[in-house]
Amino acid sequence: MNQAPILFEDNENDQQSSNQEAFAYAEVLVALPFGEAFDYRYSLNLPLQPGSIVQIPFGKRTLYGVVSALKDATQTQPNKIKDVISVVDWCALREQDLAFLTWMSDYTLIPKGRVMKMFLSSPTAFEQEKPLYAYEVSKDFSGSLTDKQRLSVEWFKGKSRAYTSVDIQKGAGVSAAIIKGALDKGALTLVPFSTVLQNPEADFLKMSYSPEQQAVVDSLSKSVTAQKYEAILVDGVTGSGKTEVYFEAIAQGLREGRQSVVLLPEISLTPQWLERFEKRFGAQPVGWHSRMTPAQRRKAWRSIAKGEALVVVGARSALMLPYPNLGLIIVDEEHETSYKQEDGAIYHARDMAVARAYHLDIPIALVSATPSLESYVNASEGKYTLLQLPHRHGGATLPSLEIVDMRFHDKKGSQGTQRFMANKVRSALVEAVSKGEQALLFLNRRGYAPLTLCRGCGERLECPHCTAWLVQHKSIERLQCHHCGFVARRPKTCPKCEEEDSFIACGPGVERIAEEMQALLPEARLLIMASDAFETTRDLVSAIERIQRGEVDVIIGTQMMAKGHHFPKLTLVGVIDADLGLSGGDLRACEKTYQLLQQVAGRCGRAEKKGHVLLQTYYPDHPVLQALVANDKGAFIEQERLMRQTAGMPPYTRLAALICSSQDSQLVEQFVRALGRHAPRIEGVEVLGPAQAPMAILRRYHRWRFLIRAPKNYPLQKYLKSWLATLELPRQIKLQIDIDPISFM
Ligand code: ADP
Ligand code: ZN
Repeated sequence: MNQAPILFEDNENDQQSSNQEAFAYAEVLVALPFGEAFDYRYSLNLPLQPGSIVQIPFGKRTLYGVVSALKDATQTQPNKIKDVISVVDWCALREQDLAFLTWMSDYTLIPKGRVMKMFLSSPTAFEQEKPLYAYEVSKDFSGSLTDKQRLSVEWFKGKSRAYTSVDIQKGAGVSAAIIKGALDKGALTLVPFSTVLQNPEADFLKMSYSPEQQAVVDSLSKSVTAQKYEAILVDGVTGSGKTEVYFEAIAQGLREGRQSVVLLPEISLTPQWLERFEKRFGAQPVGWHSRMTPAQRRKAWRSIAKGEALVVVGARSALMLPYPNLGLIIVDEEHETSYKQEDGAIYHARDMAVARAYHLDIPIALVSATPSLESYVNASEGKYTLLQLPHRHGGATLPSLEIVDMRFHDKKGSQGTQRFMANKVRSALVEAVSKGEQALLFLNRRGYAPLTLCRGCGERLECPHCTAWLVQHKSIERLQCHHCGFVARRPKTCPKCEEEDSFIACGPGVERIAEEMQALLPEARLLIMASDAFETTRDLVSAIERIQRGEVDVIIGTQMMAKGHHFPKLTLVGVIDADLGLSGGDLRACEKTYQLLQQVAGRCGRAEKKGHVLLQTYYPDHPVLQALVANDKGAFIEQERLMRQTAGMPPYTRLAALICSSQDSQLVEQFVRALGRHAPRIEGVEVLGPAQAPMAILRRYHRWRFLIRAPKNYPLQKYLKSWLATLELPRQIKLQIDIDPISFM
């Protein structure tokens, strides 16, 4: 690292002179959601380096920032320049972190300051740590206590260490005041207390692997030991032991004393995963996700930045932490589109993870049962190492898949209710439940019905703030917008034709399938698994436990049920609408549907009994469904690859999208039309649009899109920058840049 030049020795008598030579200048990225670096002056007594975290005055506030460069002159006027206040001495970003940060900003066009803010994501991490105290039982206490005070003392029986007031309150069921009372009487004593992090142990549980697994384990361990950049695609069928295998790579990192980070899609970051980790390693990893409290965040951040936390598991943002000693990155379910952060700063965490590994010069493992086309292509071009696990562990076989042709399905049930399950599915359910096995009905739609329509005039109930239908929810007796959360009662009369009680529910959501299920098997124990079905993580955990204990017969689940879970008793999966993802003109519609259905199918038959999957469809000949039934992933991927190549789509070309939105519909339309006229004309670069977004209004914002396509190696970011520099963005308009878009809504 370059040190600032020492201009001359510090001279005590010279301290007050205005033209201080014992100062230099630092470019500081300020932890604000915008902007580039600002210059600050600093005393050469401060041990500044590029990457140092410093406290600086900013306007009327004091903020933290990261030094991106040091220099001995500045363009900033002398009366404007401010001094660095202090430097954090126990952690800093490394040169590789800064290089990554710059790369990420250049690639995604997210301002550098904003990327840096992701690194300093616990604003309180640098504040002085308050000393912690905990309670112990005093020796030789012989005074009298109230009953409750005695409870709090007796709770310590059989315990050897000190506990915090909160521990005692929870354990003994007493209030803080009672504990304080016992302390005042001398029955308890306060002692300094440090919460020592208990790290996972590499060999806590001794594992043995099948020959197929062992080969992957050996290969991963070798890469972990080599500590060189290498991207590894672990492609293994559901239940093949991918998780066990990457746990072993983490174990290798632990043996060598290095940090590892595991990225999981937020939805998979379940207590079940943590429990499994703890069984394997004897301790929990340090978590990093959006549901943490500021105090938990602060604690986690500090332990990571100090290098104490050896295994970190988190969602996207766990990538942007100042690990001093990171030796391995794992991206589980690498194909998941939720790795693409779509609000605010847009980036793809999987792609950023690969770049992060590259800048740190360490291995990264991308893990999936259904890898993305992009990763397959990278593997086939030799950019990624491909490791495969083609068989399920322990002799379990993959489930058989069968297409159920819905074109001849009679929707009418008894008593005028509609039926959404074919006879075949209904009888399979009855059979599974009668044998004491579990079944999953999969439908990726929350609520009761996705659309509510007037029988008289055809009026559809839409969200007043979004281009979206209101979804009927029976459980809460309301209509709800799944985009903005708008909630309304079902109107008594149609607002358009004024007919009374004319609204009917169209199509099914999970609640409606549950209703049909109830009518079919009134005795069966049903459980709806949807993201809005649980208020707290506790509720979710206990639901999962009920399934595992066999207290549930039929699970009716959304996407939430597709991932990761291991339910040995589950033998039947009914996919209510296998066509759901196929329409919509999305570039990846087929690929995403294939992945999702494959994942759902992978939930069943994971133990001794073989699983069976029934796919209800109106397009029984669709290539996606045919590929699923034939279990021919290779052929499917090859076909998708060819399609993308012929259509000139990624990964054979590059795409970017610009999304402009505003509450002022006229203003934004004028702006995008002007912007369209300013688009630089370059041979090979295509600008499509402006066009109104399919989601034309979202949360009251009117939205317009451009799609830009360019040859694979064209510097698209530069193009966008020079284009956007031609027009000033009015304050009322929000502009989002989406490099490598996944959503086209
Ligand atoms: P995947 O991640 O590929 O779906 P898992 O790692 O979850 O597969 O493995 C499926 C099941 O088999 C899990 O219950 C796991 O604990 C078990 N399993 C896999 N490999 C082994 C092994 N080598 N030893 C013991 N159990 C294993
Ligand atoms: Zn809405």
